Formats: sequence, structure tokens, C-alpha cells
Amino acid sequence: MAKLGNPQETIQILQKHDFHFQKKFGQNFLIDTRVLDKIVEAAGVTEQDFVLEIGPGIGTMTQVLCERARQVLAVEIDNNLIPILKETLAEYKNVEILHGDILKQDIRQIAERYNGGKPIKIVANLPYYITTPIIMGLFESHVPLSNVTVMVQKEVAERMRAEPGTKECGALSLAVQYYAEPYLAANVPPNCFMPRPKVGSAVIRLDCLKRTSVEVKDERLMFRLIRASFNQRRKTLQNSLSNSCELDFSKEEIGKAIERAGFPPAIRGEKLGLKEFAALADELCRESEDGA
Ligand code: SAM
Repeated sequence: MAKLGNPQETIQILQKHDFHFQKKFGQNFLIDTRVLDKIVEAAGVTEQDFVLEIGPGIGTMTQVLCERARQVLAVEIDNNLIPILKETLAEYKNVEILHGDILKQDIRQIAERYNGGKPIKIVANLPYYITTPIIMGLFESHVPLSNVTVMVQKEVAERMRAEPGTKECGALSLAVQYYAEPYLAANVPPNCFMPRPKVGSAVIRLDCLKRTSVEVKDERLMFRLIRASFNQRRKTLQNSLSNSCELDFSKEEIGKAIERAGFPPAIRGEKLGLKEFAALADELCRESEDGA
């Protein structure tokens, strides 16, 4: 089988299998070998590694991963791509193709089964429509991860790296920076894909931290505070938190916690970073304990 990664080979295999792109699956296939190399280089894949690839498409990046890694598991949702993958990956003995939805897989179990529970690497040109649930699902379920190297929309990559207090910073930025250190590996223009997406893309590597970047008593509460604050980012912190149906604190309790955490009463949540949200969550925990 020829190596994929250029427009001619891609068109040939798609025509042979009479494949039609499905917009609902976010299908934009890579047709540039330099970009493929950059992603795999950025992920630092070695022959000791087990790599989980999300959405292999026709197997373009999977071929490169198979050449560098010990073992690859490629999870693809589109039934029509499975026979193509069987053909394009036929010569590799270190790959398994799993037909399914990545959001329904137990990735902790995958790490256990293929890597003895040790941290795994994830590499993907992600379907953009589910970037956030995929990334958040991986982190929140505490999958053992070494790094996650993914192609995402350029704007999403910028959000993941955004400094607290800037207008790009949102709930995703703080969540990513709680669990990982983001590193921008490359910007990728639309002409590197078939079909061309309407937006620019970027490769970002998230180096997963051994310990989260801040300590907090109740992680779930902190993320509820973060989501509520950024859902109504133009309102004061006290108002956005007391309006949230995810939270069960009175306006007075929130006001007291804001004061005890040392913030001005009219502060907006968008001004806070992780350390400040952790301090506020701890104050609210104390509030509930004192009231109990
Ligand atoms: N990796 C290929 C490449 O770089 O050429 C394809 C990337 S394309 C942007 C995204 C791929 O993810 C498609 O093959 C699509 O069918 C697949 N996909 C979409 N949603 C998925 C899901 N929920 N679970 C697994 N694969 C999915």
C-alpha cells in the first residue's frame, strides 16, 4: 500500500471505495506530509509508546504513528471508513482499528488493557464539532495521560493557551491549564486538508501535569464556579454565581465567600485565574461546613 499524505493518493483511495465525506463527522483529511510529521514529532512518539488515535479517517496519520510507536489503537466512528482503514493499514501488525464513538469509550480501560495502566499518548486531527467534550472527558475522568497532541481550530488553540484576565480566556482555558501545560506546535492553513475547512487550524500539545496546577478541596465545585462565571461573564461574580442553576448558594453566602477570599465585592469572574477560583471554592466549602 502506498504512503498516504498527498492529494493524489487520497483521491485515489476515496474514489476506489466510492467514499463520500460526511459533514456531521467533521471530516477534513490531512493531505500534507510536513504537517503529519510535525504532529507526530510534537507528540514525541517513540517505539515504547502506546498511542490512541481519535478519528483516523483513511489512516493517513495512522501510518506514520504505526511506524514510530509500539502499538496504535485507532477509534473511528464512520462505518464507511473501516474497509478503507483495513486496506491502508494492512501491512502494519501493531495497529488495531476500533469502530465506535470516542465519547462512548472507557479510555481508562483502554490505557489499562494496552499500556498496563501507565500514561498513554493521544494524537488526533480532531473532529472540530466535539473538541471540547473530548478534551474535557479525558481530563475529568482522570485517564492516565502523558500528552495529548491534537489539531484543533486555531481559535480553540488560542483559548486553551489564553492568560487569565484576557478576553480569550474562558472555562476551557482554565480547565486545560488546571490539568496540563499547553504548547503550540504549529499553525496549519486550510489548504492542508481535503475538503478545506473554513477556518484556520493549529496543532497543540497538552503536557499533562503529574499534580494539578492548583490545589482545591472540591474540584467539581471549582469547575461549577468557573462555568457559571464565564456563562455570564459581563455580570459581577456574585450575580453570575447566584444566577446559576448549577449552584446552590444564596447571594449572601456567595458575597461572604468573595469577601473572605479577599476579592472586591463587584469583581467579575472573568478577572480571576485558577488560584482565585480555587480560593473561592475553598471558602464556599468552609461556608457549607460552618452552616452544617
Ligand atoms: N485523522 C484523519 C486525518 O488527519 O486525515 C481524519 C481527521 S478528520 C478531521 C476527523 C475524523 O474523526 C474523521 O475520520 C471522522 O469520521 C472521525 N470522527 C468524528 N466523530 C468521531 C467520534 N465521535 N468518534 C470517533 N471518530 C470520530
